[in-house]
Amino acid sequence: MNTSLESCDVIVVGAGLAGLTAAAEVADAGKKVVLLDQEPEQSLGGQAFWSLGGLFFVDSPEQRRMGIKDSRDLAMQDWLGSAQFDREEDRWPRAWAEAYVDFAAGEKRAWLREMGHRVFPVVGWAERGDGRAEGHGNSVPRFHITWGTGPGVVDPFERRCREHAAAGRLRFGFRHQVDDLVVEGGTVVGVRGTLLEPSSIQRGQASSRVGVGEFELRAQAVIVTSGGIGGNHDLVRKTWPARLGTPPKTMVAGVPAHVDGRMLGITEAAGATVINPDRMWHYVEGIRNWDPIWDNHGIRILPGPSSLWLDATGKRLPAPYFPGFDTLGTLAHLRTTGYDYSWFVLTQKIIEKEFALSGSEQNPDLTGKDIKLLLSRVKAGAPGPVEAFKQHGADFVVADTLTELVRGMNEIADDEAPRIEEPSLRSLIEARDREIDNEFTKDAQVTAIRGARTYRGDKLIRVASPHKLLDPKAGPLIAVRLNVLTRKTLGGLESDLDGRCLTSAGEPLPGLYAAGEVNGFGGGGMMGYNALEGTFLGGCLFSGRVAGRAAARAV
Ligand SMILES: Cc1cc2nc3c(=O)[nH]c(=O)nc-3n(C[C@H](O)[C@H](O)[C@H](O)COP(=O)(O)OP(=O)(O)OC[C@H]3O[C@@H](n4cnc5c(N)ncnc54)[C@H](O)[C@@H]3O)c2cc1C
Repeated sequence: MNTSLESCDVIVVGAGLAGLTAAAEVADAGKKVVLLDQEPEQSLGGQAFWSLGGLFFVDSPEQRRMGIKDSRDLAMQDWLGSAQFDREEDRWPRAWAEAYVDFAAGEKRAWLREMGHRVFPVVGWAERGDGRAEGHGNSVPRFHITWGTGPGVVDPFERRCREHAAAGRLRFGFRHQVDDLVVEGGTVVGVRGTLLEPSSIQRGQASSRVGVGEFELRAQAVIVTSGGIGGNHDLVRKTWPARLGTPPKTMVAGVPAHVDGRMLGITEAAGATVINPDRMWHYVEGIRNWDPIWDNHGIRILPGPSSLWLDATGKRLPAPYFPGFDTLGTLAHLRTTGYDYSWFVLTQKIIEKEFALSGSEQNPDLTGKDIKLLLSRVKAGAPGPVEAFKQHGADFVVADTLTELVRGMNEIADDEAPRIEEPSLRSLIEARDREIDNEFTKDAQVTAIRGARTYRGDKLIRVASPHKLLDPKAGPLIAVRLNVLTRKTLGGLESDLDGRCLTSAGEPLPGLYAAGEVNGFGGGGMMGYNALEGTFLGGCLFSGRVAGRAAARAV
């Protein structure tokens, strides 16, 4: 039994962004907090460290400077159009959605700035939507990338926690794997679990689960901030909803192995309620990392709108499934094709401007706050990490002619998939290219590309000028095999607006709180069915802050 961590007011389970935020708030209130994590100290910050640090702000000075007119009401319209809340259990998620949009349009930016957080001035336009004003998607660009990416989001909260640790208000308990919540008389009074052997793995790698002891800790409140399920593909397949077809046999992992979903069952066993477990957010533009950090490591391409998107059989995806428009709509469509992968066909000119790779390590310029390196993005050539994928990535084919491109695609296609036929691909591309000469095109993707370029930020750094894919001056041609990449969990532990976990009777379970991804980023799924992007980190910050403050008040 480990006794060194005994005696505290609040226990936080999980030292990712939500846990760091909650713990810092508890300690700010002068209460004693223990922050536990199964991983070793070098993985502090969880997924957020690896993230791109994209944050959803509404009507920010950065948006206004780029000529974007945004408002709380427009953001709420977009949020509700995306969330499509339709269940009785959406009561709290919906209340959280309203509170969160208020936060994103209100004090979020100032609160972060005060801690030293800064954003890149060109606002990105993620999830452009399903083509309906009242439907899914962002009507305007709202994706603000943190200057310093994921580590730049984690830093202020890690700093606050370390300062509290130095002052004796906070204690870290690394390698503490929680296996159970201690419940007495219907109240959660602590946690128990396994003390894992020390681990010297590199950040993000899977650490051993060999136990060297047990521990039990007591407190007046426990906050669960243990993350989602994306690293556990069996669980993802088990909870995969019928509306997204059958689960893919092959997927790449967009998150480290610690995103194992284990605490959901443990917390449920203590009396809490899990809602909306079938809501999840997986990407369709995953590429196998040629230089992986964790097992089966996939990287998501955040694509601009110009690549031609084909299913595994070579058919073009229907409108509005263009790159960067409607993540789950595209996933649902692709699941009807009978194959787990799809293709982008593009040009060198497109890749140079339109391929952003998600992940702090894939953006050394933004992560390292290196202005000189950043400026090289506007020069000719793809950014270094994209070029490295082009050269080494198992999913990339680069060719000077369409004949060679098709040969390369067929070499890396699944054996059971029909071969891509050069004549039909050529006639598809030629038809699309003909529309480039036509100012009044009927091709919705060409219209979308032209529309995107009316936004200054897209024209500057995100959307290539419209050109013919078969124009040799735009070449070489590139094909990218795209895999389904598991990432975010949209449902989770149901909670009220104080972050208190609820029982199946809808009553708060005394002593228990939740925040972050395990909590569906607030309430048990504040994003409903679809996300607007940049809302996950922000959801961890907001729900972590709420739960930390509420728990501190209660003890
Ligand atoms: C590559 C990448 C890019 C991303 N980009 C963005 C972006 O640009 N914008 C955005 O909004 N979001 C982004 N996200 C999503 C976002 O980073 C995550 O949703 C968020 O960081 C989740 O934080 P969390 O604290 O809830 O969980 P986690 O970061 O998963 O942390 C949970 C912690 O709990 C610990 N834990 C779990 N179970 C136990 C247990 N039983 N006992 C003890 N400890 C336990 C885990 O070890 C872990 O450290 C990205 C994610 C990734 C991986």
